[in-house]
Amino acid sequence: MSLDALRQRLAELTRLDAPVGFEEPVLRYVAEQFKPLCAEVTCDVRGNVYGRLPGRDPNAPLVMITAHADEIGFMVTSVRPDGFLRFTKLGHPTDMVLPGQRVRVLAREPLEGVIGVKPGHILSPEEARRTPPIEELYIDVGASSAEEAASWGIEPGTPAVFVGELTATKDPARVFGKCVDNRAGVLCVLETARRLAADPPRCNVAFVIVVEEEVGLRGAEVAARKVQPNVVLAIDTVPSGGTPDLPPGALPWTIGAGPLLKVRETKGLSTHGPLRALVRETAAAEQIPVQVIVDTAGITDATSAQQASGDVAATVIGLARRYSHSAVELCDLNDVQAIIDLTVATVRNIHDRDQLMRISIRPSGVTPSSPAG
Ligand SMILES: [Zn+2]
Repeated sequence: MSLDALRQRLAELTRLDAPVGFEEPVLRYVAEQFKPLCAEVTCDVRGNVYGRLPGRDPNAPLVMITAHADEIGFMVTSVRPDGFLRFTKLGHPTDMVLPGQRVRVLAREPLEGVIGVKPGHILSPEEARRTPPIEELYIDVGASSAEEAASWGIEPGTPAVFVGELTATKDPARVFGKCVDNRAGVLCVLETARRLAADPPRCNVAFVIVVEEEVGLRGAEVAARKVQPNVVLAIDTVPSGGTPDLPPGALPWTIGAGPLLKVRETKGLSTHGPLRALVRETAAAEQIPVQVIVDTAGITDATSAQQASGDVAATVIGLARRYSHSAVELCDLNDVQAIIDLTVATVRNIHDRDQLMRISIRPSGVTPSSPAG
């Protein structure tokens, strides 16, 4: 797929508003996309969408390739008598970027709004430096009263999202906008599905778009229990370094330098050695640069999927992106393309369960099955 086409697809996906617990627009979109590609497309009560692609060998391992549908956002907690909306967070948008931010309130019809900000003219120097707590913030949708807001369909529980149309910089591969986390991952899964369906691999594949990642990796846990895969490849964004506000040692990986291969993520997964080795060997053979990282800040669905399904080899293929959990997450589409290429090639290299064993036990003795990657 050309960079132009990738950018258009990502723009289309980021235009969908799907805050945690309200992921239906993305779920419907991916179900439609899976239909012509997969032998079976299903969903579960939680919302996870599954597309199954049988491989050429029914006895070959089952690989689950997953990305999350949801995005961070907000939820109305109450409407003031004067029509302003108090709200809480869905997931973890960064507090310091909230004042003055454009938002879309997803009432019966989407309503444009803004998170209010005090006039700079009257701020004391101390106030000007401070990040206001969310309890002090409010959304202004132009309503003059609670009754008017209610007549527009706004009530406690109405969700909202950042507004941030995908925008290309002068370098057309470098784009920014809302919910690059994780529509870029969804795009990688969809494009991987398209390519594998056109020429099925030996192993069997379940493409799974999951819900509720941003509030504790929940959908993937349910999905992994259901699919019972032998291998999990989770595709997600990872906060990156390489900006002037970070010391050189913080998040020592960057955009535009290839997919991220995590050895470990915080509070969770140690990725599976033989699987990691297989991904690295595949990348080397395909001449795809990878950045091998220890993520001390983030965690993904690979961790919950690994814990939930038990006897499974799991790893993360990550996309570096700047300005994590703001409305202007920036990534490099060359990395997106490389993740798709690497995922497709890795799946084609998975043939049998022996490849995934950490040691092999034979009558002659016990040996390492393959070097840890
Ligand atoms: Zn994510």
